[in-house]
Amino acid sequence: MLPSHLNGHSALARRRPRLAAASQPATGGSEEEAADAPLAEHDRIYFQSYSHIGIHEAMIKDRVRTDAYRSAIMHHQKFIEGKVVMDVGCGTGILSVFCARAGAKRVYAVEASEMATQASEIVKANNLNDKVVVIHGRVEDVEVDDKVDVIISEWMGYMLLYESMLPSVLFARDKWLKPGGLILPSHATLFMAPITNSERYEGSVDFWSDVYGINMSALVPLAKKFTSEEPSIEIIGGENVLSWPFVVKHIDCYTFKAEELKSITTKYKVSSMMLAPIHGFGFWFEVEFNGPQDPSDNSPSDLNPLNIIHKKRRRRSDDAVLLSTAPEDEPTHWHQTILYFLDPIEVKQDQIIEGSVTVSQSEENPRFLNIQLDCS
Ligand code: SAH
Repeated sequence: MLPSHLNGHSALARRRPRLAAASQPATGGSEEEAADAPLAEHDRIYFQSYSHIGIHEAMIKDRVRTDAYRSAIMHHQKFIEGKVVMDVGCGTGILSVFCARAGAKRVYAVEASEMATQASEIVKANNLNDKVVVIHGRVEDVEVDDKVDVIISEWMGYMLLYESMLPSVLFARDKWLKPGGLILPSHATLFMAPITNSERYEGSVDFWSDVYGINMSALVPLAKKFTSEEPSIEIIGGENVLSWPFVVKHIDCYTFKAEELKSITTKYKVSSMMLAPIHGFGFWFEVEFNGPQDPSDNSPSDLNPLNIIHKKRRRRSDDAVLLSTAPEDEPTHWHQTILYFLDPIEVKQDQIIEGSVTVSQSEENPRFLNIQLDCS
């Protein structure tokens, strides 16, 4: 039994939000302001990080991400044309502009950070003032004139759940989405698998045994601690993955309840595909852009993990849009999230690796995650 308690607090910051100095009040924007509600300190810092252009540049330059959203919008154009859309967390407004160009009658572009000011200028510069209404405020505080036909949001953080933005989307769904309305993305799945990565492990740990001819092994315990105590955001390839991926959580955005995110525990069991040292576990996610579940589809909503994988593959072949951050797919700005062990464990081909993983929201800041992983 190798218990490895991993606490993912401070290092895991999606898109590396910068904790900038206090933001200035917005000036000159023509966006609507939502009624002020007091913000928790962690939310103030969170929204401040999204006032910075760097984070938006990283997201927009991630073509896998941005093209997936644009394709999903075009794929669902018949649900968007002439309809009312809410963009939860519009950032620069890019998805709102895509929706307006796809024929939306009205887009409520809701953004809590100061980026709302620029979003509103971008809307104006693209002559979409009559269609896109930028609202500066938290989606939890805004009021709009009508219920909406479509909710679109790019809410995913590292390892899917970091940042905890999904509850805001679910809030908007329950308050503003018309019955039978469309949610993009519609489904999200978090995967895990044991990984081998000798190059990375040796580069960070064994490195210290000979540094310019100097024995610095005294640093090895510190290097192991540093490598294993916090999740690492890095790109791995399919060749680093030792087993079929295991589903930690499958989320149906049409029915999911935010309370379920407080703590998610899954027992996993996988079989190693080869003889190799396991250096830790990798986590990644996929989101799908589907319509509401067809009532004639009787498949249970709480499928066992293997069924979920099969169902997903079926959907993919039905040519629904899928955004994948898996190691075998083109890298995205989310990379993969790796939890390294203190020491690697040798496994044989077909050896069973099992245990449980708990991903829970930190009590002091629900936007952070604690991860506990047990493995034998
Ligand atoms: N839609 C943009 C930005 C996505 S990043 C794009 O695809 O490029 C997520 C954005 O949601 C951030 O700008 C963040 O400030 C905003 N956001 C997060 N939670 C929010 C909430 N509760 N209400 C309003 N905006 C929110």
